[in-house]
Amino acid sequence: MSVSKIPFLDLTTVHRELQQELTLVFRNALDTAVFVGGPVVERFEERFAEFCEVPHCVGVGSGTDALRFALLAAGIGQDDVVITVPNTFIATTEAISQVGATPQFVDVDQRTYNMAPEKLLEFLEACCTLDPVTGKLMSNSIGHPVTGIVPVHLYGQMADMDPILELADRYHLVVVEDACQAHGAQYLSKKENRWCKAGSMGVAAAFSFYPGKNLGACGEAGAITTKNPEIARKVRMLRDHGEAAKYYHDMEGYNGRLDAIQAGILSVKIRHLEGWNAGRVEAARRYADLFTAAGADVTLPFQPAWSKPVYHLYVVQAEGRNSLRRELAEAGIATGLHYPLPLHLQKAYAGLGVGRGTLPVTELIASRILSLPMFPTLSEAQQQRVVEAVAARTMQPVPGAATTSA
Ligand SMILES: *Cc1c(COP(=O)(O)O)cnc(C)c1O
Repeated sequence: MSVSKIPFLDLTTVHRELQQELTLVFRNALDTAVFVGGPVVERFEERFAEFCEVPHCVGVGSGTDALRFALLAAGIGQDDVVITVPNTFIATTEAISQVGATPQFVDVDQRTYNMAPEKLLEFLEACCTLDPVTGKLMSNSIGHPVTGIVPVHLYGQMADMDPILELADRYHLVVVEDACQAHGAQYLSKKENRWCKAGSMGVAAAFSFYPGKNLGACGEAGAITTKNPEIARKVRMLRDHGEAAKYYHDMEGYNGRLDAIQAGILSVKIRHLEGWNAGRVEAARRYADLFTAAGADVTLPFQPAWSKPVYHLYVVQAEGRNSLRRELAEAGIATGLHYPLPLHLQKAYAGLGVGRGTLPVTELIASRILSLPMFPTLSEAQQQRVVEAVAARTMQPVPGAATTSA
């Protein structure tokens, strides 16, 4: 008897369902010969701005471009220090380095896996000094001014933005959200007394439409969202060689435009995003119910009362993660690791001199986290199989559990 494999992510089903609309996008591009920028891109930008509840969206070539351009437009540059987390994809810190700044890490919260506001406070108070002459906040270890924070809304759940924004305000730091995994996630802001969408809280935010994201193109794409018209204007110039008008360059920029075929594809797919996100939330709820019923010894994702996540990933923690992962693979269940090696321990960042032991929460979870299959069309039967496979390998005799008490 052969059992079908359970993929980590299923992209083919939705594309098969939308095939006619998607191929029409390609045909229109051939007919009009508008391949980069143009009205199809503008329409998508309007639609995504609306989705994120912000006035401006600027489409770019990738999430990495979006981060880079957002930082530059927000005034981050040469010899600045930008605070972020070590538990993220390297694009977050690449963007910081590539605008000429240096990333410095604060640890994450052990339940949400996102930036811990108390660690941020500790860093600002203990590792920085206000320069009495310039009034600038200086990083003690790097000797350069700290000018920005990049909170990452990892796995589809927003970082705890109220305290992060309050600290940013107090220390005059700009906040650029890395929302590359969080299309549609929401945060209940006490300060604003309402639910706020990912991408609407910082001075600017970066989104990726890499195919595997909650909203994915059929190739590379990204976007910046912002409430600030001046930042939107700067990003529009940055993505197009610093052009103010055709062949008039106010500054040097980049080739970072969104192509029209990807924008057209995204315009078709965005109509389904709410539904797909709801499917992910439903799948997450089923996982939680099934794991609890099975008595599996795994730590489930934590959802604070202030959070409406969109479950880009469903990440659990388990003892003996590596062997569990191997055994699941043998049972035909694909899993992922997000991320196996914290950024400060990567070879690429050896030069930062941040050793093992300095960011203990991130380092601990890196050895325990496991991303289970998660996508909108994941079926209950598939989840049942995943949970049974995990439970069979993690079940531990609970001392005293079998004894009955009055
Ligand atoms: C995907 C991702 C990026 C980069 O996006 P690309 O479109 O691949 O350049 C940045 N940050 C995070 C957290 C991501 O998940």
